[in-house]
Amino acid sequence: MFDRFGMITLTRFSKVGGIVDELLAGRFVASRCTRCGARSFPPRADCSECRSGEFEFVEISRRARLLSYTTIHAAPTGFEDQVPYTLGVVELEAGGRAMACYGETLPVDSELGTPVSVVPCVRGKGDGLRAYYTLERREEEADG
Ligand SMILES: [Zn+2]
Repeated sequence: MFDRFGMITLTRFSKVGGIVDELLAGRFVASRCTRCGARSFPPRADCSECRSGEFEFVEISRRARLLSYTTIHAAPTGFEDQVPYTLGVVELEAGGRAMACYGETLPVDSELGTPVSVVPCVRGKGDGLRAYYTLERREEEADG
């Protein structure tokens, strides 16, 4: 199932591979330990607080702020036809960090701290189906 995550992955199986189904359904999720309630993004199967291996996916806010970015000109295998592309690291309001490609609405010259949304995306069909997320521009609401 994890073979549908992003454009390429070296991981054939993962206990958190169900994140692909969540992304396909348009949900942005973290894992939550069903024993102690600790939440993690990126999702992890084994709780860092109580070591339990029981977890569930919970939808979290897509709101984040740009922490760092880089533009790739010499791409790794599988991304050669994407260059140049920009990757950003964001701090999620829900806790944790995510790394993803810039989406069409996020300017490459965005300042650090820019409010962004992490948006689930689906591309392709059948065996070529891929789920991932991109960073998109977010207008700041009055209530912050
Ligand atoms: Zn726990």
